[in-house]
Amino acid sequence: MSEKTQGEELREKLFYQPKNLSETMTPEDKAAAEAFAVPYKAFLDRAKTEREAVTIIVEMLEKAGYVPFVPGKQYPAGAKVYLNNRGKALIASTIGTLDIGEGVRIEAAHIDNPRLDLKPNPLVEEQELCFLKTHYYGGIKKYQWTAIPLSLHGVVVKKDGSSVTVTIGEDPDDPVFCVTDLLPHLGADQMKKPMTQGITGEQLNVLIGCEMYPDEKVSEKVKLNILSLLNGKYGITERDFQSAELCAVPAFKARDLGLDRGMVGAYGHDDRVCAFAQLMAEIEAKSPAHTTVTVFADKEEVGSDGVTGLNSHFLVDFIADLAQAGGKELRHVLRASACLSADVSAAFDPAWPEVAEKHNCAYLGYGPVLTKYTGARGKSSTNDAPAEYVAFVEGILEDAGVTWQTGELGKVDQGGGGTVAMYVSQYNVNTVDMGVAVLSMHAPFEVISKADLYMTYKAMAAFYR
Ligand code: MN
Ligand code: MN
Repeated sequence: MSEKTQGEELREKLFYQPKNLSETMTPEDKAAAEAFAVPYKAFLDRAKTEREAVTIIVEMLEKAGYVPFVPGKQYPAGAKVYLNNRGKALIASTIGTLDIGEGVRIEAAHIDNPRLDLKPNPLVEEQELCFLKTHYYGGIKKYQWTAIPLSLHGVVVKKDGSSVTVTIGEDPDDPVFCVTDLLPHLGADQMKKPMTQGITGEQLNVLIGCEMYPDEKVSEKVKLNILSLLNGKYGITERDFQSAELCAVPAFKARDLGLDRGMVGAYGHDDRVCAFAQLMAEIEAKSPAHTTVTVFADKEEVGSDGVTGLNSHFLVDFIADLAQAGGKELRHVLRASACLSADVSAAFDPAWPEVAEKHNCAYLGYGPVLTKYTGARGKSSTNDAPAEYVAFVEGILEDAGVTWQTGELGKVDQGGGGTVAMYVSQYNVNTVDMGVAVLSMHAPFEVISKADLYMTYKAMAAFYR
């Protein structure tokens, strides 16, 4: 065995050396990571919209003993409650042993995803083919949404207030849908266009039928046939689309990715991967010191506005109820609180090294990414966490044996992005971003590492301890 030279020892002591979990994880942790990915994949397959995510999370919470939160009620330490915000966003909480005046611990992920929303009057017939017109939701590369199987999800609220839930295309026996693309033989002009214009928003029309209603006398026979099918199955008419939230999402299931099965490929890792990790941490928190506040937010992909987005007051109102029940001022509780804004980051992709700065980007398999600031154009529109708070979170991770990394979203001035962090920190709550590194983010099929998922869960659990 050769001894280390003085330089080698000094280097080890002084250099920051991120580690690949694949090399450093114990066999027990590797097995645990593999096992953790199984229910995660099942969760992804059932939760393709924020509404579906809320339904499933409530189901899981109730099974774990959570009850609906009642404002004004005094809860003992260890009590588990949840608050359902309109079936589209959710807060789960475990009451801590410390006084509410000591602040709460918040973990906030989002459960909405980029997708194709249906327009209010979506159904059109063109040349005896029936389509659903869409208005895309969130940041998508439009060309990625053509020629892949899509399923339809959502709700239709009828005149009488009753609502029907729609899910078509997930069961193997269901039909699926798609946006058509031009054949390469005739695509010469299309292929010369910039990629942003190869497929336009108005071309993102979902093919839904081709069979005609058997009546010589009527026009738009294909559309009539589709409406008649929809009416038979759901009791809805064309007018009901106006009070609906329907969207097309990729129809495929979450799958192990790679011969070594080290990754998961799926629609919607951003940000269900953090949502699932924090959900498991929340459920397992038995007697946390600080009250846990686990937030599953809607609308992040479109800027967090709207009643179910984190730019609405539902989170701070919930904390206000906790503060009031404990006889404390909301502002003092917020000032003492701490938050992990749990959202994904971009993993370095060897196919596009030019957009990343290799010393300051995240890598697949190096653990959760702790991101001090996001934003674009000189850190604009970002929560830039105070150094003291970053050090505080790092201390928690280190004590819990969590391997983490740090990284920026791309090179300076390459682009950028935001999270919910600034909508929490605006209430004077210390907040920092942390989440899983993703390849092909916002694509219909995104990729994460199972080791990262598990290590992120460990980080989330440690933050609640
Ligand atoms: Mn996200
Ligand atoms: Mn996103």
